Amino acid sequence: MIYDGTAPADSDVLRTGGVPLAPAGFTWPMCGSSCGGPLQFFAHLPVEYGALSVFVCQNDPGACDSWDATSGANRVYLFPREGLQPVAVPEKGVTLLPATSAIRIHAVPFDPEEHEEHEEREEHDDLAPDAYDLARSGWKWEPEEGFGKQREVLGSLGGSPSYLEDDRLPTCASCAGTTEFAAHLEEGISRQTAMNLGGQLGYVFVCRACCRGAFLTD
Ligand SMILES: [Zn+2]
Ligand SMILES: [Zn+2]
Repeated sequence: MIYDGTAPADSDVLRTGGVPLAPAGFTWPMCGSSCGGPLQFFAHLPVEYGALSVFVCQNDPGACDSWDATSGANRVYLFPREGLQPVAVPEKGVTLLPATSAIRIHAVPFDPEEHEEHEEREEHDDLAPDAYDLARSGWKWEPEEGFGKQREVLGSLGGSPSYLEDDRLPTCASCAGTTEFAAHLEEGISRQTAMNLGGQLGYVFVCRACCRGAFLTD
């Protein structure tokens, strides 16, 4: 997912920031960790099976365990794509990002075998080649640009979770079953647009059967 300028705040497109879109009757989620305030809306992610909506507590960064999928300080919803409408924003609390950022998709082919014989890997053969890490570090506008513009990378849709320990894979809060990896989130290009992930990579998981997801950072 690559930063692509600004987007209308209520558009049904891939974006970070703006206002959440949800089915009628949806109420803004509140923090289930220590602060009890409204969560901040991070991202609207239309996918082929619906629209993922990501919220993370930012009322008192550090006080609520927003890095933890089970803390109640973050929330991921999977909504049907039809009938979505802008959600009323609570008057108090840290609820919206300063800017709405459009996201465009840049597909990166990944062939594990191609990287297996890579020289660097011989010294670190405990680390398997990581598709997301390779895609992110390879991002450039033009092939001749030597240095990647990695702040423009806002994460990925699909793929596999980057360097995440197996014991951190979240289970579904509804059915207790395994969740499927849905997206990575990066903080963003600037203070204006950034989601606060504590300098970490964000991970979005989903249980399609229960229409709910999970969020954590590494
Ligand atoms: Zn909180
Ligand atoms: Zn479930």
